[in-house]
Amino acid sequence: MIVLVVNAGSSTLKCQLVQTDGKVRLMKALAERIGAPGSSMEVAFAPDFHERTVLVEGCSVPECLGILLDMLQDDPDSPIGSLDEIRAIGNRIVAGGERFSESVLVDDGVLEELTRCEELAPLHNPPADACIRLLRERLPHTPEVAVFDTAFHTTMPPKAYMYPLPQRYYQDYGIRRYGAHGTSHRYAAQQAANLLGRPLEDLGLITCHLGNGGSITAVNHGVSIDTTMGFTPLEGLMMGTRSGSIDPAIVTYIMRRDGISFEEMDRILNKDSGILGVSGLSADMRDVLAAADEGNADAALAVDMYVYRVQKAIGSFYAAMTRTDVVVMTAGIGENSAELRERIFAGLAHMGMILDRDRNDVTGQIGVNRIISIDDSPIKICVVTTDEEMRIARETSALVG
Ligand code: ADP
Repeated sequence: MIVLVVNAGSSTLKCQLVQTDGKVRLMKALAERIGAPGSSMEVAFAPDFHERTVLVEGCSVPECLGILLDMLQDDPDSPIGSLDEIRAIGNRIVAGGERFSESVLVDDGVLEELTRCEELAPLHNPPADACIRLLRERLPHTPEVAVFDTAFHTTMPPKAYMYPLPQRYYQDYGIRRYGAHGTSHRYAAQQAANLLGRPLEDLGLITCHLGNGGSITAVNHGVSIDTTMGFTPLEGLMMGTRSGSIDPAIVTYIMRRDGISFEEMDRILNKDSGILGVSGLSADMRDVLAAADEGNADAALAVDMYVYRVQKAIGSFYAAMTRTDVVVMTAGIGENSAELRERIFAGLAHMGMILDRDRNDVTGQIGVNRIISIDDSPIKICVVTTDEEMRIARETSALVG
């Protein structure tokens, strides 16, 4: 089945066309900094995936999607002859609130409920919903599926999802912990169970999605019981540009001292903090590791803090579960950085998580799901390659098919 996967963010659009039967990619498109001067979209078609750049200056996120649909329809190199060949559309939705505990086929009722979830992720959900509406107009006979980042975490118990605030904020505003990266944690957990050759339901897992954004989840008997991200993706780990958890009193203190607005403070916490804020250099872990190697003290501090905060999160979920069988590493940093894995697990050996240095080595191993702990490590450590678009495509085809 040919599935169009649409992953719309506040100023980004990532799309892929996937033939789910053979897990074959037919098209990839990426637009970043949408709305900024000179913004463009990179589009590549199978089989050679030669990138072509399309200017999308002045376009909104759904308008970029409209341009992509035109290209798929009219470009002589398009892998499809007509948009009718697209049999289903999978839309990634950041926040599904308490309403959506699994992926759903989009109909009028669902669309109305999606609109109600917009206030939970005001930057991400509205453009995604706008893309769904555009696709309903352009491809009215093609079923659309919404796949939620939060759905996997709807199994968290109240003691994990409630904040110690007056209850009216939960009742009136829905303020609670929702988590994120749900499809990635679910997939990582299942792949780790496959590697161990054991049913997921029998295992206690700690899944670590360490990318530009990052979160760690405690998966007990196949369900999420706690995760580091909260009401928004700002809570939890230190990330590329997000602070992660800090003393909330810092927010009001800085606002008073600097006389800044809510929007400004929001930007500082989400865009100027984390690895970028501490290193003063870059949000990209590769740059910061390289600078630390060259003796840059701020870069070294950023890496130290990152590692320490990941270690503390893994330790806290070890305490939250009744048993831990496996820790799973996934996403950009988790999959690719043998150095950071080594540093993270060097501090966790006393809990029974013992890395095998040779297995941890990445040479020739990028993209290979594997166990990287020593044979008699009481808790196994795995690396799993995440592929968000492919997962959304397969989930969509399963629901539609
Ligand atoms: P996103 O959350 O945007 O999908 P990714 O999962 O692609 O991000 O992760 C991006 C992060 O992974 C960046 O910080 C990048 O530097 C880091 N990364 C990728 N490869 C490596 C590597 N070999 N060593 C260290 N960090 C890496």
